[in-house]
Amino acid sequence: MGITRRTKSVDLLLEEFQKDSGALSTTSLINRLNSEINKTTIYRVLDKLEDDGILHSFIGSNGIKWYAKCTDCSKHKHSDVHPHFQCLECGKVDCLPVEVPIPEIENRQVTASHILIQGRCKECLNSI
Ligand SMILES: [Zn+2]
Ligand SMILES: [Zn+2]
Repeated sequence: MGITRRTKSVDLLLEEFQKDSGALSTTSLINRLNSEINKTTIYRVLDKLEDDGILHSFIGSNGIKWYAKCTDCSKHKHSDVHPHFQCLECGKVDCLPVEVPIPEIENRQVTASHILIQGRCKECLNSI
């Protein structure tokens, strides 16, 4: 995995993303890992992994920051302008593999977009 120096905290954090296919909020990561890694380290490692193109972040409801694995990013280029989906029943968030065209805006350069679509996920729809 490139130049990221593998430390124990990096390993532990990445393991959480391996277990879960969806996105994880900073709050739930802190809850899961706070016996092993302190909060400050969690934020620092997440920042670093995002810098390295391994994770990308976006803002969910209540202003909570979420992270998900990148598929095609590198240290030099993040290409995660896809929308994210949050299930209002179970709270699960995942990346949507669809493209949402971002309009050209005069005199502005778009470098990021945070589109959060909310509704019911597949599992919740099936359990009705
Ligand atoms: Zn759900
Ligand atoms: Zn995503």
